[in-house]
Amino acid sequence: MTLKEDIYDVIVIGAGSVGTPLAWQLSEAGLKVLVLDPNASVGQGSNKAAIGGIRATHSDPAKIRISLKSIEIFSTWLDRFGDDIGWIQGGYSFVAYDPKEERTFKDLLVLQKQFRLNIQWFDGDDLLRIIPALNPSGLIGGTFAPEDGSASPMLSVLAFERQAKRYGAIFKYHEGVIGILRDNGRVKGVTTQKATYQAAVIVNAAGAWARQVAGMAGVDVPVTPDSHEGGITEPVAMFLKPMVVDIRPIEPSPEMPGSANYYFYQHHTGQIIFCITPNPSIWGTDCRETSVFLPQVTRRMLEIMPRLSNIKVRRTWRGLYPMTPDGAPVVGEVDGLAGFFNAVGMCGQGFMLGPGLAYYLRQLITGENRVEAQDILAPLSLYRNFGKKEALK
Ligand SMILES: Cc1cc2nc3c(=O)[nH]c(=O)nc-3n(C[C@H](O)[C@H](O)[C@H](O)COP(=O)(O)OP(=O)(O)OC[C@H]3O[C@@H](n4cnc5c(N)ncnc54)[C@H](O)[C@@H]3O)c2cc1C
Repeated sequence: MTLKEDIYDVIVIGAGSVGTPLAWQLSEAGLKVLVLDPNASVGQGSNKAAIGGIRATHSDPAKIRISLKSIEIFSTWLDRFGDDIGWIQGGYSFVAYDPKEERTFKDLLVLQKQFRLNIQWFDGDDLLRIIPALNPSGLIGGTFAPEDGSASPMLSVLAFERQAKRYGAIFKYHEGVIGILRDNGRVKGVTTQKATYQAAVIVNAAGAWARQVAGMAGVDVPVTPDSHEGGITEPVAMFLKPMVVDIRPIEPSPEMPGSANYYFYQHHTGQIIFCITPNPSIWGTDCRETSVFLPQVTRRMLEIMPRLSNIKVRRTWRGLYPMTPDGAPVVGEVDGLAGFFNAVGMCGQGFMLGPGLAYYLRQLITGENRVEAQDILAPLSLYRNFGKKEALK
């Protein structure tokens, strides 16, 4: 027998970068929300591995629009709710030391401006005024989007959880979903090792584990876990405002595996925090740090910012990107299974996309402004062609 208190309007599977702000949005809209997660507390999946970058500088219109909403939420959080989430509006700069990247960034400006992103191209000398520590040798220039920024993923997810609970959302930890109940083309609820819960709407926000969860409902989502490492230095006096991104690929050599883009910025605590994209990707859920990452990423960082040569690295870690074949999320209701929504496949951007996505999913689920949400989220459909590749992953 199901008890009355085990009947909810919405069940969110996963208390991570996406599920937690979604629980806040849905409970604020007056819905009775349950969030389930096998971990001991909020944000213990990929969320805590993120380095905290938040940008609307994307090459994909849906991501630009969602991230602009996220930036509105992150940047006003302290004033609206009183929690310091470490928000710094330092901007993002994609730097070009090669004419190929210069062309890519300049071409993208047209689309980015069309979606009202505040971004400009700066030639080398002008960019050095914004980022004086950049190596001037060979620097062609770069884009700078001053409204992008950063925040602490853990402080943010805790703040989202606090607001969700304030509006009545229930979070149950040590309780992963092991089954999804269906009846006549509709979802009915979920089972865990401890109980059965009913709801007419279920949102799969299980990150790198999304494929397993969707599989419980007989649905396949193309999300694959992909290992990425991050690192953090000792704190130093503030000298670097924006996140610096270098997208030049490096081919593998006998000494070092290949890599794609890497990015770093100065955290609100003064520490430099950094990350690199291995090439080829390292598929799987292995989260043990490697001895490859640090020499690989620091060599590249020192090349474009020699001033970092004496800073000490404090810690490295490894986490998971929930990757999709085209680098864009999969969001929306599943055809033929009413009430089952995916909010998955966030790749390397789930922290920055989370709050904006939660805002538009709220519109879609409650029907408050379904037309706007459908317009923004349609390109992220599970039924799209996954063949195209994104320029700024
Ligand atoms: C090194 C590194 C640096 C990164 N830097 C950035 C960055 O600067 N900016 C950015 O935006 N992103 C960044 N990311 C990516 C970001 O961390 C992810 O995209 C994001 O956390 C994914 O959010 P999510 O909510 O989909 O998944 P998660 O945050 O992992 O949440 C999913 C949750 O689902 C839970 N779950 C799993 N199975 C079940 C089940 N059966 N039942 C219930 N719950 C379940 C998990 O326990 C987890 O808590 C980085 C990632 C890494 C690894």
